[in-house]
Amino acid sequence: MRVSRLMLVTLRDDPAEAEITSHKLLLRAGYMRRLAPGIFAYLPLLFRVLQKISAIVREEMASVDALETLLPQLQPADLWRRSGRWDGYTAGEGIMFHLIDRQDRALGLGPTHEEVVTELAADLLRSYRQLPVCLYQIQTKFRDEIRPRFGLMRGREFIMKDAYSFHADEACLRRTYAAMDGAYRRIFARCGLRAVAVEADSGAIGGSASQEFMVTAEAGEDLILASPDGCYAANQERAVSLPAPALPLEADAARSLATPAQKSIEELCAAHGFHPTQTLKVLLLVARFAVAAPRAVLVSLRGDQQLNDVKLANAVTTLSPEAGALLEITPLGAEHLAGDGLAVPFGYLGPHLEDPPLGGAERLPMLRLADSSAAELGAFVCGANRPDEHLVGARWGELCPLPQVVDLRAAQPGDRCLHDPTQRLEAARGIEVGHIFQLGRKYSEALEARFTNEAGSEEPLWMGCYGIGVSRLAQAAVEQHHDADGIRWPVAIAPYTVIIVIASSQDPVQVGLAERLYGQLLQAGIDTLLDDRPERAGVKFKDADLIGIPWRLVVGRAAAEGRVELVDRSGDSGKQELTVEAALDALLGLQGEGP
Ligand code: ATP
Ligand code: MG
Repeated sequence: MRVSRLMLVTLRDDPAEAEITSHKLLLRAGYMRRLAPGIFAYLPLLFRVLQKISAIVREEMASVDALETLLPQLQPADLWRRSGRWDGYTAGEGIMFHLIDRQDRALGLGPTHEEVVTELAADLLRSYRQLPVCLYQIQTKFRDEIRPRFGLMRGREFIMKDAYSFHADEACLRRTYAAMDGAYRRIFARCGLRAVAVEADSGAIGGSASQEFMVTAEAGEDLILASPDGCYAANQERAVSLPAPALPLEADAARSLATPAQKSIEELCAAHGFHPTQTLKVLLLVARFAVAAPRAVLVSLRGDQQLNDVKLANAVTTLSPEAGALLEITPLGAEHLAGDGLAVPFGYLGPHLEDPPLGGAERLPMLRLADSSAAELGAFVCGANRPDEHLVGARWGELCPLPQVVDLRAAQPGDRCLHDPTQRLEAARGIEVGHIFQLGRKYSEALEARFTNEAGSEEPLWMGCYGIGVSRLAQAAVEQHHDADGIRWPVAIAPYTVIIVIASSQDPVQVGLAERLYGQLLQAGIDTLLDDRPERAGVKFKDADLIGIPWRLVVGRAAAEGRVELVDRSGDSGKQELTVEAALDALLGLQGEGP
């Protein structure tokens, strides 16, 4: 392709809208333009990158016998109502764009395709003889993200590869899950990315085991906690660890302590010399559901610990089975309380708090939860449920029954690991580029996707699902591969492999040689750009660096002597002046090279 025909518009300065390096570079180098928050036009250069990534994905999907398909993006609300996800995905913080058609029917724009594919399976898969089956597609997904940001990292319209597998039993599901794990590792490696697999929360998709693939980068939105021995790595949303040991509190019987203006653990400890591990942190929250009235939630953690919101949401969902989808959990505020409920002594809460008077008719009793760090305390310090007063030496059983014990604490860097307490968790930031799930029978049960097993009886299909954020991956590659001058694409996903720069397009010798090389490289099947623009050489070199084409072939003054300059932008072999033949040989040799 000739650069003069490429519609290439590069920017000298960082656009104001861009927050992280990869986002800035993709805008500046003319790969994309923003149309609205989280909505981008993929310009021709970027489209080629996406096509190259997709080609690698297709090869690896074929290697695990997944079949490519294309499923509808407009999805009937009824289908999502039957799986129980319509409310959760459309109300509250739900991220599904939805609309009403001219016949008054509600539809959603596909954020993911479990419902659609399960409906197909219910229709088509009837016998164990047809199993296993795996379908995938590469398609635009729509999600009305609460905070679209960082360009392609969190778009509201983005490209995903999603695959779904169906099995006659769990063992078969596990085998496909393991095969997908291998395929994913190969995809990321072939794309030139350093990625790590981590244990993950299954989120709104549901199911049992799940694993995320993270491209490690400082700009990543996710926090990874990993043990130095490499045996454990998890997303912080999901990570488990051993908290630091608590200091025992010497106390015979519970007594009350005046604590005016000591609403926080720090203030309380500073005033009385307690250690935070001797105290209880009690949080009063309210959960809103699609079906049931709001439910108060009282959480007890050890004073030095932090609440993990994802673990809490999972626990509340599991423990409120009839309440419908969980919409949100927020701190309980005055607006939730009926009558004179305003007396709740925030800052002085204890686990023996009575159910607060929430507005609304039918009410579930307050959900009382304790993290094991709190449950394991002997005597502790906690709020007295009266302003300006704490209790010292309170105990579970005496003060109130021990609440339901669940894992609610956020693991932190520096915590001891469960598998080996001599190892301590280390933190790294990551960009989630892929996520694989063992869904089990959640969707097949809800949507009655059943098959006849070998014994002749009917049962729900076993399912797995496997996603890759193709557009996010493209930007993650830039986040991992750039320098001060621009992008340094890994060769396998670069939009073009070679750019020929004519230093002076006035010089017929240079133009002649460049045209000849361009023709030869194209003939050899090498994706080549020819910068034939009537610009100064410096401008063309800057643009070539910025757009990040792996090899730059400069045809300059030495063309008269049959010499050219070859610059390695992605690797580290630097600049060399070569004869035309040697340069051609070097570039033609790239063809044979594997990933
Ligand atoms: P996140 O936690 O980042 O929101 P997710 O858990 O919602 O991601 P999945 O539903 O597992 O993501 O989607 C599969 C893949 O699609 C993700 O691993 C990610 O790479 C990509 N992806 C998800 N949401 C977006 C988005 N808003 N923009 C771009 N890519 C996304
Ligand atoms: Mg998400």
